Amino acid sequence: MTDILIEDDMTRAKRGITWMRLEEALGGTGCPICSQIERSEKHYLGNLLYEYVLDVGVRKKLHREHGFCTRHAQLALEAEKELDSDGLHLATMFETVIEENRRLLESQSKQLEIMAKETKKRRKKISLHSIDVSKCFVCDFVKESEGIATHGFLYFANDKELIDIYEKSETLVCFRHLQMLVKEKVSAQIIDATLKKVNKINRDLSNFIRKHDYQSSHDYTKDELRSYRTAVNYFAGDYRW
Ligand SMILES: [Zn+2]
Ligand SMILES: [Zn+2]
Repeated sequence: MTDILIEDDMTRAKRGITWMRLEEALGGTGCPICSQIERSEKHYLGNLLYEYVLDVGVRKKLHREHGFCTRHAQLALEAEKELDSDGLHLATMFETVIEENRRLLESQSKQLEIMAKETKKRRKKISLHSIDVSKCFVCDFVKESEGIATHGFLYFANDKELIDIYEKSETLVCFRHLQMLVKEKVSAQIIDATLKKVNKINRDLSNFIRKHDYQSSHDYTKDELRSYRTAVNYFAGDYRW
């Protein structure tokens, strides 16, 4: 009888894109889920400017949501710069959005003018239509990417190799994503591995503060010097808004 090597699901999965992205993210710093989302988000915005400037669907979304949110406006401007462009992509995308906005403001101005002529009593009863601006359609894409990255992490969360890489890596799953994993009943080992990292931050913070004492040598380690940033970033991640 010949030995037939049957490849298990995990071995096969580790040749897939999900594992490759996860492994790459674990080779960096910060939250390995946040960094995967950020990568997709930047890629999405770059493509948006480059390929979809004339895409009617994108135009519609941009109109419907009145431009980008603060984060994605910033990233869109950076993406434009990366294309070595003088701004023509965003100019084309925003031309009609601005035109429509102009019409909206004209009509609001008219309504306000009419209202100003009313008596105080009647004015109180009239309600004006104002626009609530919050998230944008790139935020919707981010939400989707977050689901994919979180589920990718969960898929491998019981794998010894994953836990090993995570323990040794400089990454730290942010509190928000950690809670998403807990909600999905992630393996306790991931939480324990994170706890070790959080314990280290705790020690570094205490040492950093203690060494500020005038009697101390002020001999800080690199980790102690950045402990306050690590603590702030652990809670904030890149996608808590
Ligand atoms: Zn995160
Ligand atoms: Zn957005």
